[in-house]
Amino acid sequence: MSFPTLFIDIILPLALPKLYTYRVPKELNDSIVVGKRVVVSFKTNKLYTGLIKEIKETPPKDYEAKYIISILDDEPIVTAEQFLLWEWMAAYYLCTLGEVMNAALPGGLKLQSETKISLTENYKDHLKIINDKEFLIIEALEISNIITLDEVSKILDQKTVFPIIKGMMDRGLLLIHEEINTKYKPRKQVYVSLSEAYSNKELLNKELDSLGKKAPKQAELLMSFLKLLYDDKERKEVVRDELIKYADSSSAFILQLVKKGIFELEEKEVSRLSNSAQDVEDKVDLNEFQLQAFQEINDHFQEKDILLLHGITSSGKTEIYIHLIEEVLAQGKQVLYLLPEIALTTQIINRLKKHFGNLVQVYHSRLSENERVEVWRNLLNKTSNKAYENISVILAARSGIFLPYHNLGLIIVDEEHENSFKQYDPAPRYHARDSAMVLAKLFDAKTLLGSATPSIESYYNAATNKYGLVNLTKRHGGVLLPEILLVNIAEEKRKKLMKSHFSNLLIEEIKTALDKKEQIILFQNRRGFAPILECVTCGWSPHCINCDVSLTYHKSNESLRCHYCGYVGKIPKSCSACGNNDIKMKGFGTEKVEEELGIFFPDAVIARLDLDSTRSKYSYQQIIGDFESNKINVLVGTQMVTKGLDFNNVSIVGILNADSMLNFPDFRSYERSFQLMAQVSGRAGRQQKRGKVIIQCQNPLHPIIQHVLMNDYEKMYSEELSERNKFHFPPYHRLIKLTLKHKDFSLIDNASFHLSQDLKKVLGARVLGPESPLVSRVRNLFLKDILIKIERESSIRNAKKMIMDTIINFKGLADYKSVTVHIDVDPY
Ligand code: ADP
Ligand code: ZN
Ligand code: ZN
Repeated sequence: MSFPTLFIDIILPLALPKLYTYRVPKELNDSIVVGKRVVVSFKTNKLYTGLIKEIKETPPKDYEAKYIISILDDEPIVTAEQFLLWEWMAAYYLCTLGEVMNAALPGGLKLQSETKISLTENYKDHLKIINDKEFLIIEALEISNIITLDEVSKILDQKTVFPIIKGMMDRGLLLIHEEINTKYKPRKQVYVSLSEAYSNKELLNKELDSLGKKAPKQAELLMSFLKLLYDDKERKEVVRDELIKYADSSSAFILQLVKKGIFELEEKEVSRLSNSAQDVEDKVDLNEFQLQAFQEINDHFQEKDILLLHGITSSGKTEIYIHLIEEVLAQGKQVLYLLPEIALTTQIINRLKKHFGNLVQVYHSRLSENERVEVWRNLLNKTSNKAYENISVILAARSGIFLPYHNLGLIIVDEEHENSFKQYDPAPRYHARDSAMVLAKLFDAKTLLGSATPSIESYYNAATNKYGLVNLTKRHGGVLLPEILLVNIAEEKRKKLMKSHFSNLLIEEIKTALDKKEQIILFQNRRGFAPILECVTCGWSPHCINCDVSLTYHKSNESLRCHYCGYVGKIPKSCSACGNNDIKMKGFGTEKVEEELGIFFPDAVIARLDLDSTRSKYSYQQIIGDFESNKINVLVGTQMVTKGLDFNNVSIVGILNADSMLNFPDFRSYERSFQLMAQVSGRAGRQQKRGKVIIQCQNPLHPIIQHVLMNDYEKMYSEELSERNKFHFPPYHRLIKLTLKHKDFSLIDNASFHLSQDLKKVLGARVLGPESPLVSRVRNLFLKDILIKIERESSIRNAKKMIMDTIINFKGLADYKSVTVHIDVDPY
């Protein structure tokens, strides 16, 4: 029998355009399987974990393949479908497989470039023939046990240390420190149980008596333990920490009982994922409109793979989802339920858990890396914990598309219009909704998009029959849509009727609501206190030192902050330009609204929900929870308050300054303003009572304000559509945005001009720019944008190939090597 020489293509966690090929030592041939991780050296002195993508028998043409160093996994950790999705993403979003892998794998499964080495057990047997450098390394390891390759570099004062390390490894002196294999450590818990001998009741009682006299603390502990077992007849053992807490004892006393042969300890692996046993409730009956929508959805799915459910706020879309999920589970298939990160509150999690119990697993950024690995492993079916064998509903934020499914039947993308489904940075700059459709296709599964305010693209796709469309126009329980009142603040100001940022009407309505113990939501699209400090004399305002943007004044910690880079500056006492002392605040943010409202309503409990108030891990849940339980009367917030929450005591919603959204220079600003206003309005009013929405704006006749007033999505849609058509925007044209970055302005000025000229040679007038974006310098890098608009009818593939070829040529130019080019396909 002959053994072939095997070569493997590996995905490294780097932005490499191509896969690297490595050679397999023959003794490892049998263990090589696509989807396992391996340790390799790259660029001679760096060690990485990479993922086996392909196995072949031909060596690479242009270089000599290096040997892989070791294999990390016993079983593949990535499935065939995942590889297909990754490949699609890399091709579609014009990025590398390494970048996709980095986004896909939870941190606990990823390479550490800081690879650590340690001495082998019998390194002393091999010391006879070491040289000076090797001696230094061994000496360092004898002192500190583990060192990184970077540290080796420093010790030897040379860059390429890998050959030395490898030589030493070959001779049995060194090995890669284990940690790289076991970064993920299952959590262990110690269980206390009675020993075999003491399962005899008589013996146990005798022991208790004698302990009672000699060692009362131990007797108490034993009694508490027995009580726990008695309360739950099924129970044979107790988690040590739980016992200590319950008995108010300590582990020392437990050990004494172990020594006496009464207790036994056993360490067991437990899951980190919460596994509270819950009573699973029956789902609610659908009302007649929901039932009809549900049937239509099922009918459409006979022919269409993708469906849009356009259901107004509070129509009960979630209840329909629950019924659909049940159907899919009955077929033995998995469901992925995607929501924007911020909407993944306990509210929705509990609603699903109530019906599906432990079949539901959550996957979002609030899980620890270890928990994420655990979800991943459970889905791969490598779990030792029976309770998770059946996870079949994944409730996730955008990264949920990356999990290892094996049998998906349905993907629900709720609030599909939300821009947080798009990842801006780093690459892959993907849209989870669009990627989800590709994922679904790999499994022959269905995709259901849901929204009260669909994105123009999705609605267009439904209107042109690419997707099925189901409408749900009635709110559950006949709850009326809120009454919308417009206030012209330009006029109010002229008449001097405004009290700070609040119109008379708004103040009156808040007062009435507070008197009736009803709640209020105030929406202001800006955080901080005041967006700008400005010199009254010369107009100077303090700017960030790293970015070309003015600093926002935050009163709570008396600071000026940059919302782009986090820079914190001091508040100037006088104008830096003219020296005058008269500096005024312009504009207002959520912090100011909160403070001023407190002056008008000193007895009300007012809270703020924005990026600043929710930095710590649980603060968001906390604020939402307090608002739900009526501990908070008024919630002031940014768009965070608009996200799919369901409160039942909110009677007033105030939108303080609609103009700032409408005037934002972006082709989507009208669409977004409509969505935000319609969504936040949807929070007003419940079963018993019609709510009110008060919109303060400069121009009540603005078409978008009028469409919100009339709750006319269709009108907004058709007007937007003709604008998009006229100005070559989606859905008629596809956009690709290139952003060039460099710290030298004149270099990037030339570079962006050069690249855009090159692009125009192949794509002509489809290429726009270069232009400086609104904020033209961020973190000390100057930015230039080039926008490419490709008409829908022409081949996007060809266009992408031309763009990539042009960029590769451009990057090959010596002058522009150091320019970073970000590619954003379908920028949002
Ligand atoms: P949407 O997601 O469309 O905004 P939800 O699914 O959150 O709406 O439903 C709004 C409210 O109405 C929720 O409190 C929900 O429990 C309730 N609800 C919806 N449908 C029903 C139903 N068929 N029976 C009982 N309650 C329902
Ligand atoms: Zn900055
Ligand atoms: Zn000045």
